[in-house]
Amino acid sequence: MTDVSSTPESPWLRRATVDLGAYRANLRHLREVVAPAELMAVVKADGYGHGATAVAAAAVEAGVTWLGALELANAHELRASGIGDSVSILAWQFASTETFERAVAERIDLGISSLAQLEAVARAVASVAEALAPDAAAAPIDAPALVHLNVDTGLHRDGVLVGEWDALVSRAIELRDAGILRLRGVYSHLAEASDDEDTESAETLTEAIGRAEGLGARFERRHLTASSAGLERPELRLDMVRMGANTYGIPVTDGVTAADRGLVPVMTLSARIARVKRIAAGTGVSYDYTYRAPRDTTVALVPIGYADGLSRRSQHGVTVALRGKRYPIVGRVAMDQFLIDVGDDPVEAGDEATLFGPGTRGELTVGEWADLIGTIGEEIVSGLGPRIPRVYV
Ligand SMILES: *Cc1c(COP(=O)(O)O)cnc(C)c1O
Repeated sequence: MTDVSSTPESPWLRRATVDLGAYRANLRHLREVVAPAELMAVVKADGYGHGATAVAAAAVEAGVTWLGALELANAHELRASGIGDSVSILAWQFASTETFERAVAERIDLGISSLAQLEAVARAVASVAEALAPDAAAAPIDAPALVHLNVDTGLHRDGVLVGEWDALVSRAIELRDAGILRLRGVYSHLAEASDDEDTESAETLTEAIGRAEGLGARFERRHLTASSAGLERPELRLDMVRMGANTYGIPVTDGVTAADRGLVPVMTLSARIARVKRIAAGTGVSYDYTYRAPRDTTVALVPIGYADGLSRRSQHGVTVALRGKRYPIVGRVAMDQFLIDVGDDPVEAGDEATLFGPGTRGELTVGEWADLIGTIGEEIVSGLGPRIPRVYV
């Protein structure tokens, strides 16, 4: 039994390596695929667990000019990290008491889902203008809010229902005419329940845009699709596609691999074997002895657990790669660690185990891992905890 901390060249226990080159390559490829539509790189949820500021900077290097942040705090963090307003950042999930002064001042694009939000944005524009030029209340506002009106076309999360659409649009037109906002976009988000239902949602969006134009609105861009329909339904791309999962090399269509889509998984999750033990046939391991060795064998301790975001369900059928070979997780996944059965193979403490990655060294991809435990790759990567350092290459 060797303690990994005593191995001089291997001071780390666990880490997520984020291949920014692969991320940029995915973005360049996706931009080509969706052109002439624009590509928004969605970096919400801390860049799906990859680290939002690092991936956002890489996205900008790859020529992306739209970022999807979700919350204002994240949008502000991106601006503070040095992303200037030549790059647009969309936020669309707000507290009901949100005030939008900083968002207006920092030129954050705002996805608007209610009349109350629109009024709060208008108040923010007035107060920002007042702060900039207190003596010139009647002067033209030179920083109108950047607004995207969100129609609920069936998902029933964000967006206004069609019945409330005309009222929202009419007020937005008044505010536009007063120089308080720009109609930067109109959008919706698909349920992806079936192609036919997505088509109906797209038709609902088209009708809503038609009605808004009848009222006098002119939107600078229309957007609807995310990773799935953005690739599978070219006719629904409109002017912009908002993609998260694909950009991280996690294709979302059943039975489709990253390679099938010309993408590379960006994150590799690895850990160094902490301990190796020889056990006799019949020996139970980990909590509850849910696994008893069928023969004399060696078990190796992998120091990642459910506190790091690794589901306890991974006990059933998931493998980890070591020296190019796959070994099954055996026994309960604990808070900080789990065991793999390596048989009679010469595994040592300090060996690097790859949980998931691009699949080039025998390891699973995160999509394969997710399939085995009945979830999606996005849930795994975005759920990885802060004890796992993100290392950028
Ligand atoms: C998360 C999200 C996306 C990106 O979804 P992916 O399937 O990961 O591409 C796009 N649009 C909205 C509104 C979202 O919430």
